[in-house]
Amino acid sequence: MNLLKKEFFFQDVNKLKGVGIQLSKYLKKKRIEKIKDIILNFPYSETNRSNLSKLNNLEIGKIQTIKVLVKKLYFPRIRNLPNKILCQDETGNIDIVYFNSREGYLRKIFPLNEWVIISGKVNFFRNKYQISNPDYVTSLQNQDYVVKNIPKYSLTKGINEKKYRYICDQVTKNLPKIEDWLSEDFIKKNNLLNWNIAIKELHNSINSNNNSPSYRRIVFDEICANLLTLSKNRKRIKKNKTNKEFLESISNKIVNTLDFKLTNDQKRVLKEINFDLSSNKRMFRILQGDVGSGKTIVSLLTISNVVESGYQCALMGPTEILALQHYKLAKRIFKDTNINIVFLTGKTESKEKKKILKDLETGKIDIIIGTHSLFQKKIKFKNLGYIVIDEQHKFGVNQRSDLAKKGGPDCDLLLMSATPIPRTMMMSLYGDMDLSKIIEKPALRKKIITISKPEKKIKEIWTFLKKNIAKKNQIFWVCPLIDESKFLDFSSAKKKFNEINKIFPNSVGLLHGGLEKEEKNKVLKEFLKKKISILVSTTVIEVGIDFPDANVIIIENANKFGLAQLHQLRGRVGRGDKQATCILLFKDGLSKNAIKRIKILKSSDDGFFIADEDLKLRGFGDLTGYQQSGMKNFRFADPIIHKDLFELAEKFILDTQEKVNQEKYMFLLKLFDKAEIININEI
Ligand code: ADP
Ligand code: MG
Repeated sequence: MNLLKKEFFFQDVNKLKGVGIQLSKYLKKKRIEKIKDIILNFPYSETNRSNLSKLNNLEIGKIQTIKVLVKKLYFPRIRNLPNKILCQDETGNIDIVYFNSREGYLRKIFPLNEWVIISGKVNFFRNKYQISNPDYVTSLQNQDYVVKNIPKYSLTKGINEKKYRYICDQVTKNLPKIEDWLSEDFIKKNNLLNWNIAIKELHNSINSNNNSPSYRRIVFDEICANLLTLSKNRKRIKKNKTNKEFLESISNKIVNTLDFKLTNDQKRVLKEINFDLSSNKRMFRILQGDVGSGKTIVSLLTISNVVESGYQCALMGPTEILALQHYKLAKRIFKDTNINIVFLTGKTESKEKKKILKDLETGKIDIIIGTHSLFQKKIKFKNLGYIVIDEQHKFGVNQRSDLAKKGGPDCDLLLMSATPIPRTMMMSLYGDMDLSKIIEKPALRKKIITISKPEKKIKEIWTFLKKNIAKKNQIFWVCPLIDESKFLDFSSAKKKFNEINKIFPNSVGLLHGGLEKEEKNKVLKEFLKKKISILVSTTVIEVGIDFPDANVIIIENANKFGLAQLHQLRGRVGRGDKQATCILLFKDGLSKNAIKRIKILKSSDDGFFIADEDLKLRGFGDLTGYQQSGMKNFRFADPIIHKDLFELAEKFILDTQEKVNQEKYMFLLKLFDKAEIININEI
């Protein structure tokens, strides 16, 4: 391999011997496209082929390695009959069977009356041992290649171990030594390893658990690559802009007409955002606050300031229903102003849409509210100055970067999210953004009463529900999460629906992931309009929709949910000023963790605190909420196991960023596929 050192890493895999079009396709499925992807695809285990077994001592069903003499080759010329090679050692016989194999090839690897090494899974067929399509067949001279522990990589259809090993060897055996971007001192001090050594070790030894020095080294690099990307992204976005000038005159008027007082947190956050809007640096900010903490009004007030300063604004919600709710609220609070607000979704009629597009371009429209259809290419603004995106927890850094490009150089950006991120992860996920937090709940809001109940007392619940329905309260019934299967979850919701429908006829609706979007919207609207009192659902209802009269939520099989998720579900109720109740239903025999979780839920309604506790109680793998929130950006790092490395990397980046050789950093970014986000010229 006569390539320049670092170039080698970023060559296409098809530069390797044996990788053609078909195999490239299979590799791509495993996210292996460049040579560096092979380097970063570590074995997860190994196959023991190191013991040569005698034929009278074989274990059926296991992968074994044997040394045998080739006695006879059968090539039946009948379709569907396999080719067969009879082999023996001093203790017995075995058939080696091949389906779809060429005669010439078999004759070559099985020379008559010679000893060969064979490794593969042993079966027993018609009273005889057999190996069909063995993994390896090799001559005695070559036995060192096979008779040993062989690393096991996660592979897909179309690539077997032997093939992958042939490809992988070309890379790992020729790995160019690169100059480490970490100093030896730093590596030693923090129990990491030199990069070259770490990579070698990760491919060779199965001792590498996810806390070994070699693995920690890769994790550290990965976190650094992420942090660097975010900090570069930040630098790029936070460029100079024309500052927006406003006196908060509309916004002050609106505040006076509200039938509630803003909380101190809302006021503080308003100040933070307004400061950014009127500064001459672009705003790139995330507003985090629990469900019901009152983020919407904050966004609308800041929007009114931007309108006052002469710019257009766009407010985007994740679903039509939520966007529509925002639109209605905006219409209401801006009704005494001459601000022009429109609503746009994918369903807007084409005639109306045409008019909206025209009015946006001429500047007739001040505020546009809608779903992601707001960001279609053909939509042109006269002077878009502010984008607000609600419930954005599904965006990663790439999408944020794209968004920032959309608005133009004067456009400020605010994201809002009700998914609280544990502190250790905040910087690695949102390091490119400024953070505003609302912790305090609106003053009149009563704390949701949280109760746990064993399922066998379900009768008490029926009485409770009857009372609530009489008071015109609405009820969410969240159905057991049985397992990952959509179908089972759906069937359990359906069963529960039938059961409840018998007790409360004509007042129950059913919502689950199997329904079409239209159907879902229909049911949700019925519930919003109070045509039904009880909504039986799986966890599909997104956060954010305001159901002012829903103040009871019952969560079945509550121990199957994580803390953060339970908290999010609980947040669907209690948004008005009536007392709300959350009932957690359990089967008997709660685990210690489940008991802890209930305790925490009962004691706190602070989503940030709960997120931190959740992280402590559960493995990262279970944190569904956070996975959506961008944690999937990490392939190796785990915020629980590698908490110290997250902290170390943060410090390292802050301390050394300016001093370290940029070329080495670029290499790091390219390794972890971050380079496309950052333009090299901007570094
Ligand atoms: P979220 O932060 O989840 O988006 P919303 O903005 O939807 O929360 O607010 C939830 C409800 O709380 C709304 O009905 C809103 O009118 C109300 N609300 C917002 N701020 C306050 C406040 N300071 N006092 C009382 N109610 C408020
Ligand atoms: Mg909201």
